[in-house]
Amino acid sequence: MSDSTGFEPNILSKSVIKVQASIIKATAHPISRGDISDHALKVLAGLHDAGYDSYLVGGCVRDLMLGREPKDFDVATNALPEEVRRVFKNCRLIGRRFRLAHVYFGREIIEVATYRAPPGKIDETASGNKSDKTKDSEVHLADDSGRILRDNVYGTLEEDAVRRDFTINALYYNYANDEISDFVGGFDDLKNGLIKIIGDPETRYREDPVRMLRAIRFAAKLGLKIDPKSEAPIKALSVLLADVPAARKFEEVLKLFHGGAALSTFEALRHADLFQYLFPQAELCLAKEVGHFPAVLIPLALRNTDNRIAEGKPVTPAFLLAVMLWGSALEEAQRLVAGGANQQDALRSAAAHVLRKQSQHTSIPKRFTGMMREMWMMQSRFAFRNGQRAFRLMEHQRFRAAYDFLCLRSESGEIDDELCRWWTLFQEVDIEERKEMISKLPPVPGRRRKRKKRTGPNNNSGEKNFNV
Ligand code: ATP
Ligand code: MG
Repeated sequence: MSDSTGFEPNILSKSVIKVQASIIKATAHPISRGDISDHALKVLAGLHDAGYDSYLVGGCVRDLMLGREPKDFDVATNALPEEVRRVFKNCRLIGRRFRLAHVYFGREIIEVATYRAPPGKIDETASGNKSDKTKDSEVHLADDSGRILRDNVYGTLEEDAVRRDFTINALYYNYANDEISDFVGGFDDLKNGLIKIIGDPETRYREDPVRMLRAIRFAAKLGLKIDPKSEAPIKALSVLLADVPAARKFEEVLKLFHGGAALSTFEALRHADLFQYLFPQAELCLAKEVGHFPAVLIPLALRNTDNRIAEGKPVTPAFLLAVMLWGSALEEAQRLVAGGANQQDALRSAAAHVLRKQSQHTSIPKRFTGMMREMWMMQSRFAFRNGQRAFRLMEHQRFRAAYDFLCLRSESGEIDDELCRWWTLFQEVDIEERKEMISKLPPVPGRRRKRKKRTGPNNNSGEKNFNV
């Protein structure tokens, strides 16, 4: 079957969509109402009482089945967005591509989505057999590679299930009777620890290449295995990620590395040839593996991030991004220094250069690039501690992050331990001891005045590679 857009529906033929759901009785699954947030329950009850279908779906059902706490609760219904708005006063409709209802409870938002049809629905609309739910919406569009450009067609519950990405993400918890409807075998796959894409893997990855990243993310985060058939085409199709908008890739990067399993996610992404499309500059550095840096710095930072998340400590994307791109920034700075630039200027230009290149792949918001620059620039100031400098540096807004970064560089073997140890102690002792520590420092080798031109690198910090 082919339609005027050139899209080839595959799994999405009507015979598959008409598939009967397996019903898992309330007594045969572990989810109870007590596990569901009060706000989600209010939304489920509101829709149900108004006579609409009312299901929990997606990650929250998956996570509850695994005994994990869901990040958020998503609801699926046959009510149209406008109908959902009529049920809840605290509701706003969002999204141009696909209208969604957000029901607000203070900081918690419950997302309510009307059943959506998979791209195959175009056949029905093209043949003039439109249902009421589809007539006002736009039809599906795909580009030459099969990527879905628009997919906002309302559908039935069955259709909503098969357009989802993985079987474990397509389980529906029915508020009406506490049963789970499973159209695609997700219940068994979850029991067997398998991540299986719904339908033909290649077609589904072509429709949306981000699904490849999602497969890796769920496998690493939930400790599941990607089903061999779903895993097989990933390497060959990894190049499709190049065409995914940089903003979407950035959102995905945050989820990939702030999900609590950053290190194993990173390793799996590299193994699947996907990492290079997120951080091509880092991949180049990793491939060179100069000494054991930065091959060690990135995994160290990722392990660090995982530990912080496990301990409930805050993490900032800027830190991780600064680590990811440090090898490239340093390499570029060294090149500029070799050409006669002074180190501060070299680092500043290198930062701009590296960030500009990175923005073509993942668009990092300004608030993060600003922090990354500051963290990088501060690395060159840690060596200069005499006089009031150490005190001034400690007052800097980014001191803590920059200090953590310094220690990580030290741990990776890039720089001598001495500097990091000194700064650790400096923070622990009182003001008198701090003054004493400063007085014991070797004198500054010549006063650093602003010079118009430097002839070569200034290696007075005792560091191994570069004076930053
Ligand atoms: P988590 O929120 O824990 O990262 P999730 O599965 O809830 O995981 P979301 O991005 O919140 O992920 O998406 C909610 C649901 O929407 C998914 O479970 C899946 O059913 C569906 N979905 C999300 N992204 C896609 C996609 N790219 N293709 C098809 N279905 C998707
Ligand atoms: Mg979710």
